[in-house]
Amino acid sequence: MERIIGIDLGTTNSLSATVFEDGPEVIGLDDEASVTPSVLSWTDSGWLVGREAKDRRISNPENTVYSVKRLMGRDMAELGTIVKDLPYKIVEAQRQLVKVRVGSREFTPQELSAEILKKVKLKAEAILGESIGKAVVTVPAYFDDAQRQSTRDAARIAGLDVVRIVNEPTAAAIAYGLDEKKDGYVAVYDLGGGTFDISILKLTGKIFKVVATHGNTQLGGDDFDRAVVDTLKARIKQKHPDAEFNDPETMQILKKTAETIKIDLSLTTETSYSFALPKLGLLIEGSFNIEEFESLIAPMVEQTLESCRHVLHEAKLTLKEIGEVVLVGGSTVVTSVRKQIESFFGRPPHVAIDPYKVVAIGAGIQGHLLAGGRRDFLLLDVIPLALGIETLGGTFSKIITGNSTIPIEESETFTTNVDDQTSIDVNIFQGERELIKDCRALGQFKLKGIPAMKAGFPLVEVMFRVDANGILTVSAKEKRSGKKAEIEVIPFHGLTQFEIERIMDDSFEHAIDDFNDRQLIEFRQTAERVFRGIEQTWDIAEKALGAADREKIQKQIEVVRQSMKGQDSQALKAELDMLGDLTRPLADTAMGQTILSELQSEV
Ligand code: ADP
Ligand code: MG
Repeated sequence: MERIIGIDLGTTNSLSATVFEDGPEVIGLDDEASVTPSVLSWTDSGWLVGREAKDRRISNPENTVYSVKRLMGRDMAELGTIVKDLPYKIVEAQRQLVKVRVGSREFTPQELSAEILKKVKLKAEAILGESIGKAVVTVPAYFDDAQRQSTRDAARIAGLDVVRIVNEPTAAAIAYGLDEKKDGYVAVYDLGGGTFDISILKLTGKIFKVVATHGNTQLGGDDFDRAVVDTLKARIKQKHPDAEFNDPETMQILKKTAETIKIDLSLTTETSYSFALPKLGLLIEGSFNIEEFESLIAPMVEQTLESCRHVLHEAKLTLKEIGEVVLVGGSTVVTSVRKQIESFFGRPPHVAIDPYKVVAIGAGIQGHLLAGGRRDFLLLDVIPLALGIETLGGTFSKIITGNSTIPIEESETFTTNVDDQTSIDVNIFQGERELIKDCRALGQFKLKGIPAMKAGFPLVEVMFRVDANGILTVSAKEKRSGKKAEIEVIPFHGLTQFEIERIMDDSFEHAIDDFNDRQLIEFRQTAERVFRGIEQTWDIAEKALGAADREKIQKQIEVVRQSMKGQDSQALKAELDMLGDLTRPLADTAMGQTILSELQSEV
């Protein structure tokens, strides 16, 4: 069976996918590697494509071409103001089409798109270890015949036979297996880097038809970045009124920082930044919180909802008639975007598949079926890797174990290690290793306002809930005071099948080391608590024990201290047990109780 891969040829990013033994997945060793930015930069030795080219967008704007997709199959008149907004030169060519001028050369949009497709094809061939000749390529639902034909031409130039052109929203719906469901309407909300589309699909007997589409070709995540850049500039101006931001390097740094802040705020409620602007001789530091970010993007999110209202009206449908909602595009990871869509449509959208991969995955499935493959793989209905939180000393406490079926809910109760702690950081991780440094951070939040209590008194219940859509909600509640806080994250995002396999292999390989490391950390903590207990009740020991016994205890404390510096968890445990034995005669006293209960809780 000759493989037919799926390719999402995007305005901002392009990627490919296929069906592996374990099911459909994007092709690439990891998250970063699977994505090819749809950017090209001309150099003396030809085109640079993808990531290397992206970095030259600001440093070398005349020779760097992006958003080629906007030019496909369009003439000057149709392009309108787009031409003015793009930094590279666009010129008229025969038959009213356009070309891009770079230096003294001119290229058609098809040739440029072909360079991107070639790169995607090469990457896929390297990973799959086979040559690829056929593909399913996706295009926006609103693409007309000329635009579709240009896309086919681009693929042919790249050496790919396009078996089928599929609409992006249709591919996304297929990725979720919605074509297998009962007939009805599906809304696909796609917010990418520079464009927004909403499409309504009608499913009749496994076939999707686009019944209405609407959107904004000038609205996307890049505008979120721009709003953050403007805020950063305003903040810098406050302190340095003469600062100028026009030079390319400064702009690039601000843009990159803004995108990082935005992405951080999909994982956490507050993020700090610190960066240098060498051209201005400034070091900038500060923080951004989710409320500030959400109020910046609110008008843009509202515009997308306006489009949703419009498209429903056009399709003569009411909200109730929409059976499923699918999210597409990197920008739908933004928490407030996702929440507002949910409240607009009155139902949780499908999000379990990474929204930047979902179109490629749908195309990959389509290619697999066209090549004669079967659709017998299961979609994400288990959690591939354990989920949990960081506990003292950098250990990973698993709350939901890997391979659990969703939906699922688990909770565990923790306490504080320091007296009078009034806030607790809940850091959420995913992985199979014992220490968080070997796991992947998913998000974090702070539980504030806990009344001051002695260490060990607060009862913090941490609850993990993964719903049927794969959304993880982590909440923490201090039971004595009733203080609560929570955050929502999507645990699957960003991991490819390859990465999951690698993480599982790693955890197996490191299982023994990890266990020792973890025990060391835990026994050291136990020792500290035992020391504290002994110190706090030493006056009782002075009355209850003879001088010789007290000296033995002091000596053993020293032995334990030495052992704590070593790396042998079992040796430390043995010395700690010895300390426990020495204090056993004090079982009736408060001190004995403390120590023994500490030691017992370790078994
Ligand atoms: P396109 O369809 O235009 O090719 P994508 O779907 O790849 O675009 O989306 C790219 C956009 O998604 C960029 O603006 C990027 O900053 C944004 N993005 C990617 N990951 C995240 C994230 N975790 N949180 C918020 N925005 C993100
Ligand atoms: Mg896209």
